[in-house]
Amino acid sequence: MKRGATASGHRVAVVGGGIFGVTAALHLARAGHAVDLFEAAPELLHGASGVNQRRLHHGYHYPRSSDTVEQVREGVASFCAEYPDAVRSDYEHYVAIASRDSLVSAEQYLQFCDRMGLEYRHERPPFLRPGAVDLSLRVPEQAVDLAVLRESARRKLGAAGVAVHVRSPRQLADLDDYERVVLATYASLNHLQAAIRGGGLDYQYEVCEKPVVRLPREYHNRSLVVLDGPFMCVDPYDGTGTFLLGNVTHAIHATTVGRYPLIPAELAGLLDGRIHHTPHSKFASFVEHARPFLTGIERAEHIGSLFTVRAVLPHIEDTDARPTVVRRLDDRVVSIFGGKIATSVEAAREVVAQFGTAAPTEQDAWQLAR
Ligand SMILES: Cc1cc2nc3c(=O)[nH]c(=O)nc-3n(C[C@H](O)[C@H](O)[C@H](O)COP(=O)(O)OP(=O)(O)OC[C@H]3O[C@@H](n4cnc5c(N)ncnc54)[C@H](O)[C@@H]3O)c2cc1C
Repeated sequence: MKRGATASGHRVAVVGGGIFGVTAALHLARAGHAVDLFEAAPELLHGASGVNQRRLHHGYHYPRSSDTVEQVREGVASFCAEYPDAVRSDYEHYVAIASRDSLVSAEQYLQFCDRMGLEYRHERPPFLRPGAVDLSLRVPEQAVDLAVLRESARRKLGAAGVAVHVRSPRQLADLDDYERVVLATYASLNHLQAAIRGGGLDYQYEVCEKPVVRLPREYHNRSLVVLDGPFMCVDPYDGTGTFLLGNVTHAIHATTVGRYPLIPAELAGLLDGRIHHTPHSKFASFVEHARPFLTGIERAEHIGSLFTVRAVLPHIEDTDARPTVVRRLDDRVVSIFGGKIATSVEAAREVVAQFGTAAPTEQDAWQLAR
């Protein structure tokens, strides 16, 4: 397993083959390090990177966290430059503000867009019910096609000389032969980083469901999110012609705050990146909750649901912030806690920069958004 380092580089192990581990491995190899990438699952981009809403966020979702907006805007250009084939700009994206119970008003949302320089035009998708929202905007957001991203990642890792080991779970104790180690295991970060003094942190873990559905014709190539608070969204699912439903409340089957997620026994077998038909699905609640906003949603044909564990920082209810955090844990180990996909290239650059410096200091926790 151990590979030789170049004269200027180190032998580096990257643990976790999600978008953050893959991109870090790629950039470390290009910087002259000899990189082994270890992924526990049978394929790359199998965890949260394979089960998400497919949005390449430009900031429209985060009217309460300007740090997150700045973070993703900093990242989008470098992500698009690294993975241009996987970025879809051909969908129509809409953002709406619910008439009732939204945490920001239509007026506040427009002020937010203007303040942050987020472009928009007043337009409504054909399936959005009149009266359900106070504002509907068409925005130039983008999406990520995960099937294309996976292929692109494989090709780039091969070209950069990264040795990829799937079905290869690793713990820190397995990696003594490596001069540098990157931990990018997201919801399992504490399983590895807690072995280092001061490394363990609390996170909020959410076992999430993403229903995959067929929808009427008027939804095709269109994406909508209703903000701001306990609402819903619908997005095209890669190039499949089907859609992913999101719901801030009903998508979550279990929440834990602490060092490790507690996974309900009945859901444990569903966290494999595949579409499942299960009696535990909350699909009916997704439809019920979407009905006031979306015409034709009752005709949604449920193909099945994807399940995964989301990890976010605890106690972020006020801002809904989604920071990406790179931490130097000691003179050998760096961890990446992935926020939004758009930040993965900036996070990889930060890892390369940190490995170019000496021992860690108090300042070595790097956060794109605070
Ligand atoms: C429901 C949901 C919707 C989301 N929607 C969006 C969205 O629309 N846009 C967006 O930008 N972000 C979204 N996110 C967030 C985004 O998906 C994540 O921040 C991102 O995918 C995290 O990437 P990662 O590489 O850190 O983690 P992951 O993709 O989870 O990768 C970690 C990998 O580590 C592996 N692993 C774990 N332990 C070990 C071990 N011991 N040894 C080897 N391998 C190990 C796992 O198998 C996994 O493949 C969403 C997240 C969720 C859960």
